[in-house]
Amino acid sequence: MRRVAPWLALVLLGATMTACCGGQTVSSAASSPAQQAAAPPAQAPPPAQLDGFDAAYTYDQVANLVAFGPRPAGSDANHRQQDYIIAQLKSYGCPVEEDDFHSQTPIGDVAMKDIVVKIPGASPDIVMFATHYDTKTLANFVGADDGASSTAVMLELARILCARKNQVTLWIAFFDGEEAINWDWADPDNTYGSRELAADMALSGDLPRLKAMVLADMIGISNLQIKRETDSTTWLTDLVWSTAARLGYGNVFVNQKLEITDDHDAFLKRGVAACDVIDFEGASPIWHTVNDTLDKIDPRSLGITGHVFLESFYALEQKIH
Ligand SMILES: [Zn+2]
Repeated sequence: MRRVAPWLALVLLGATMTACCGGQTVSSAASSPAQQAAAPPAQAPPPAQLDGFDAAYTYDQVANLVAFGPRPAGSDANHRQQDYIIAQLKSYGCPVEEDDFHSQTPIGDVAMKDIVVKIPGASPDIVMFATHYDTKTLANFVGADDGASSTAVMLELARILCARKNQVTLWIAFFDGEEAINWDWADPDNTYGSRELAADMALSGDLPRLKAMVLADMIGISNLQIKRETDSTTWLTDLVWSTAARLGYGNVFVNQKLEITDDHDAFLKRGVAACDVIDFEGASPIWHTVNDTLDKIDPRSLGITGHVFLESFYALEQKIH
């Protein structure tokens, strides 16, 4: 994803300097992941407080995903992660579809795969939750927050909701190729997987049935502060934020605003109500750096966002059904 802001040029300049000049220095610095003392994770709230969402288990899933190492689109580790995600989903009894496609990228043709859980509900109308699972191309970058946190939360949503009789059809999408292959984010070198699924749904005729799309990205750090993403659909953002407030998380889903370009855009452009749930500013010190590691992940944050997503889904069922 990319933040859209007047000082973006400055951010990108700084980021570019890190990319061009700091690779080797950063990877050998004293703060490299292997040399950090592993702090014990904060206590996860029990599932009984989170509608059954298991935050400790979700934290373990983040650890499992991070253990694959850097996972950029097309890499061997990305393929091993795909197998893992699919096996986990099948173990939960989820119906899983794989969409293999090829993208023309700055490094040539790259084979990518979207993984989509499709749970039939009483109504054919679709609610979609989504994340990206690829990580930014950067030496030693394991993307604990940027990639793994939201992927683990979506796995846990699937574990719970594949076993439930849902009133609407639920899709849970795991997108490949969200990250730009080049260091800089420049269209069309980004969001390959979400653009693929949105185009597929338009062709198949499924798109008019898609009533809401909720995207999660970078939701794992401590002291999460999720701002309202300004391109997102207002009624859907209101529904998610009012759900969070009702559950007592008004200090996490805050009312400040931020504009972010991300995987929800492909759906917004096709007229679908969509909402991006992301804490970009809080994570900006570690964003696309080798410091985006497991020790930055707080199971409480995973639990809060998971709880809000579950209750938002139930609210969407009431609204749409
Ligand atoms: Zn990223």
